[in-house]
Amino acid sequence: MDHRYQSSYNMSVKDNLAFIKAHGVEAFTKKQYKEYHCSNCGELKSVHNGKCFKCQPIQKLVEIKKD
Ligand SMILES: [Zn+2]
Repeated sequence: MDHRYQSSYNMSVKDNLAFIKAHGVEAFTKKQYKEYHCSNCGELKSVHNGKCFKCQPIQKLVEIKKD
C-alpha cells in the first residue's frame, strides 16, 4: 500500500476518533451528514464531485446533439 496514502488515512482516522472523543458520536455523525449533504436543500451530494443532485443537476449523462 502507498505509504503516503496510508499515513494520511491513519491521520484522518485519528482525527475522527479525536473528534468523537471531544464531541461525541452524535456530533460526529452530524458532521459527516453535513459534509455529504447539500447545505442548501439537504439532499445527498455526489461523493465524486461534491455536487448536489437537486441544486446542480447533471444535464445529461450523454450529450445528445440537436441539429
Ligand atoms: Zn441541494
